[in-house]
Amino acid sequence: MINLILFGPPGSGKGTQAKTIVEKFDLTHISTGDLFRYEIGNNTPLGMKAKAFMDKGNLVPDEVTIGMLENKLNTSKNPNGYILDGFPRTIAQAEALDKMLDSRGTKVTHLIALDVDDEEIIRRILERGKTSGRVDDSDEKTIRQRIDQYNEKTSPVYDFYDKVGISKKVNGLGDLPEIFNRIYDALS
Ligand code: AMP
Repeated sequence: MINLILFGPPGSGKGTQAKTIVEKFDLTHISTGDLFRYEIGNNTPLGMKAKAFMDKGNLVPDEVTIGMLENKLNTSKNPNGYILDGFPRTIAQAEALDKMLDSRGTKVTHLIALDVDDEEIIRRILERGKTSGRVDDSDEKTIRQRIDQYNEKTSPVYDFYDKVGISKKVNGLGDLPEIFNRIYDALS
């Protein structure tokens, strides 16, 4: 079983690469950002709560996010495993994830971090914002806030899994197949 955390700052290409990895290894892709956007699209109470944080570039509170992720894991069982894209984003989320997987007799097997510098992130997200319709993709101030949240709350998750020897960094610059090959090598 592969349980891969695809890690890295916003705009580092996690979602794009996840799609290819999922096909190659027959995994289930879980993106908490996509799950929140689905809830927002359906005007659910959870979606409305999350939107207030997302539009400002802030993280949604742990209890909301962890509960949503657990529901998703319960309803999408896959013996081959999962790619988690955008989760965990805090140490509390990582601890909760480890407990959830432990109770299912499994664990996180890999964390692969896509390494991309801030200026490239801002360039990519502003470009995506031209078509994504996402409020949080549309102005530089919000994008910088997302990067700050990443540096402050999310980047420690790399060290959390590095302590158990499963964190790896991969260069996130280049064309898509090139980056995919680096991830593939890191998984093997
Ligand atoms: P993403 O699509 O992964 O860039 O996520 C978009 C936004 O959704 C983030 O900026 C957060 O506001 C929220 N979000 C997604 N995943 C999480 C998470 N694991 N914890 C807290 N907030 C999240």
